[in-house]
Amino acid sequence: MSGRTGIVEGWVSNVKSVGRIAFIEVIDGLQLSPITVVVKREQVDPETWTVATGVKIGSALRVEGVFPEVVISRKGREIQATKITVLAEPLELPPIDLTGKTPASFDLYIEYRYLALRLPRFRAIFLARSKLIGFAREYLSEQGFLEINTPKIVGAGAEGGATLFALDYFGMKAYLSQSPQLYKQMLMCGVPRVFEITPYFRAEKFSTPRHLNESWGLDVEMAFINSEEDVMKVLEDFVRGAIRYLRSEMGDDLRANGLELLEEPASIPRVPYSRAIEILNSMGFSIQWGDDLDTQAEKALGEYFQRQGYPMYFITQYPWDAKPFYIMKEGERLSKAFDLDISGIEVASGGQREHRYAELIANLRAKGLNPAEFSFYTQAFKYGMPPHGGFGLGLDRLLMTLLGLSNIREVVLFPRDRFRLVP
Ligand code: ATP
Ligand code: MG
Repeated sequence: MSGRTGIVEGWVSNVKSVGRIAFIEVIDGLQLSPITVVVKREQVDPETWTVATGVKIGSALRVEGVFPEVVISRKGREIQATKITVLAEPLELPPIDLTGKTPASFDLYIEYRYLALRLPRFRAIFLARSKLIGFAREYLSEQGFLEINTPKIVGAGAEGGATLFALDYFGMKAYLSQSPQLYKQMLMCGVPRVFEITPYFRAEKFSTPRHLNESWGLDVEMAFINSEEDVMKVLEDFVRGAIRYLRSEMGDDLRANGLELLEEPASIPRVPYSRAIEILNSMGFSIQWGDDLDTQAEKALGEYFQRQGYPMYFITQYPWDAKPFYIMKEGERLSKAFDLDISGIEVASGGQREHRYAELIANLRAKGLNPAEFSFYTQAFKYGMPPHGGFGLGLDRLLMTLLGLSNIREVVLFPRDRFRLVP
């Protein structure tokens, strides 16, 4: 045997013996396909041969051996074992086929996520997730954004109290944060650019394939902007950069596991809300100006732009009535808010904020909110608050749409929906 010696640790995903050679497939590290452990009867002591031929699928192993210069197995990575230690064996038959040959149900893959993570497709999805978050951090830090962490136990919601999980905080009423909106804006009076990777908690009784009660977002806020266009530019470059990065890092691996990464668009068109309605109404919808775009409308618009060669687009200039109090008005009826939709699904919402104190107070009143309850926030607008804007982007939604998956639960390890609190 010639080659480098080394150790492989992992879980057995398949075993096979042919005469005097045993092949054990082991899922190791963060690899997407198993390494083949080759055991030759002549080259190991009798004890190791007995272990090698009796090893059970699902066991945790440590293998010592040599990485040969010439590989005999078809799968490309191989170690020729000199010693095998079984560290743990399954006590029961695993509920998921660990060879990956027989698929399990959607729910079983969630219930036994840790076992699913031994299968290449699930590894690929969660590796892509980890890389996406790593890219977000690196990209924004490079652009001069400070990474922040704001409280998740809060005393007031961003947009009123209807969708919040309430909890008792030493006798006071508190909530799980639905968004870092108010905090990131307050910080614009002290640092010019911030971002946060954060959970959003929302108490609505969702039953869609794209809503969870706990989801993860990328929140960005930036000051000294000229308009919401400056914010869209950052978001556009981020999304295009993320696609490029994932393609170069693991495009082939994703494809090999049946996951087709969206192509990087040459540009992301800006479509005013009123134009979106025109398009939809010309397709047979009857949407009144001011109405929200429901799921059906979003989907149809997504298909329309897909046909034009645009998998993603911004919807801009929403009616102010449809957007939260902190969004800046544009004229009387419009706003400086935008959404980013990918494949007909909303992935991010953002806009320029109202930074002028008097206008902000008026906006709160106009939405039926009590400015006194927001004084900890409005206070920050008294000390030189610059024009600013930002966005909140659903990381789960982004990954789901980029990978062409149809259910958000596929990209979240332990999803929290109305019917799932464990595991
Ligand atoms: P939607 O209209 O799709 O329910 P929203 O407008 O209420 O979303 P925002 O407050 O704009 O959501 O949050 C910013 C982004 O966070 C959304 O564009 C979406 O990508 C993501 N997001 C919000 N709520 C959820 C949720 N319940 N589950 C998963 N992602 C979410
Ligand atoms: Mg939104």
